[in-house]
Amino acid sequence: MTQTYQSYHVDWFVNGDVIQQNVTVHIADGRLMEIESGRSAAAISLGPVALIPGLVNAHTHLEFSLLDRPIPTAGRFTNWIRSVVAHRREHPTSVPDAIHRGVRESVQSGTTLIGDIATVGWSVTDYMESQFAGVVFQELLGLGDERMSAQSGLAQSIIAKEWPESDTNLFGLSPHAPYSVRPDLLQCAVEIAKTSGTPLAMHLAETPAELELLADGTGEFREMLTDFGIWRDGLFGGKTPADYLAILAECPRSLVVHGNYLTEDDLQFLARQPQMTLVYCPRTHAAFGHPPHPWRRLVELGGSVAIGTDSRASNPDLSLFAELQFLAKQHSDLSHLEILKLGTINGRRALLGEIADQNHADFCVVRWEKGLTPDPARNLFAAGNRVIGTIVNGADLVSADPTTTD
Ligand SMILES: [Zn+2]
Repeated sequence: MTQTYQSYHVDWFVNGDVIQQNVTVHIADGRLMEIESGRSAAAISLGPVALIPGLVNAHTHLEFSLLDRPIPTAGRFTNWIRSVVAHRREHPTSVPDAIHRGVRESVQSGTTLIGDIATVGWSVTDYMESQFAGVVFQELLGLGDERMSAQSGLAQSIIAKEWPESDTNLFGLSPHAPYSVRPDLLQCAVEIAKTSGTPLAMHLAETPAELELLADGTGEFREMLTDFGIWRDGLFGGKTPADYLAILAECPRSLVVHGNYLTEDDLQFLARQPQMTLVYCPRTHAAFGHPPHPWRRLVELGGSVAIGTDSRASNPDLSLFAELQFLAKQHSDLSHLEILKLGTINGRRALLGEIADQNHADFCVVRWEKGLTPDPARNLFAAGNRVIGTIVNGADLVSADPTTTD
């Protein structure tokens, strides 16, 4: 069998807490084999850059990747949802193009693993034709009795699908949110996840309006669901996100998306569940004007936090690197190595689990801002630094497209 072999010389190599200077990184058959001190003769020199693990976008919706700018996020949250639903209805055949463009944009900006929420109009081929790696979560939606059998059948059919020529890509399930999924459909998805080992992702505790609906069955969500003709009496009232966390905790692996309004008790609960990860989407969170996100408290309690971009319906681009720069700016007291973990290993574990190959040779190439003295722990995510390329599977060096990274 022929081995594919590649080696790169870089000024900085950063992986987890380890920082190495002036090294050659040896890769064979898509795996990191060795880090050698100094420059090896055959190595491709990438020069004055930092080589870091490929970034992990734990939550996005690639189907909206053709949007040039976000759908306005000011005002009522349900107005934004109504616009998203209208957009989907107006562009029923654009999903394959959106997946292609979204994956391309992600890879060019340093992301090599993606948790994508897929609804309709997609096929495995759309992902295979792109350089997609990660988990495709099939979204499940339904409040009425009549939706149950079709949606549970859809969930079963996804789990039965296989990725050709990939041992790391997975399918997952995403019961959308408490306001759009009836409790027995959620329970059905959880049971499938338990028996198949598949990961599950759910939007939760995203807005005060969602909490109101769960607690009292009233508010803007009730109005929207009534306007859509899908409101059902008896589904809401007397609940909190804690009830949903308890159900999601039954899954072998679950991603709690947003969690903007989780309470101290919720965070304490999450911290005791190593199989659960909170996915924070920093720029989307900021765009909706929510109060400060509780992710640092969860980290303090020992829980797991990963980072997502969410989609181009609420974010100007799909750059996970830009999310980490945003975090670094907001939390100047934090080591950039801690921020790097949120955008790499934590997301990888959330999507693929503990068995994920840690030596997989996916890397992001970061060029330091001109005039900046490189110090990975302090300025890896400085505002002027840029992703200039991505190494995918040890071989292809994908150059960043200036139009998406500037
Ligand atoms: Zn989302």
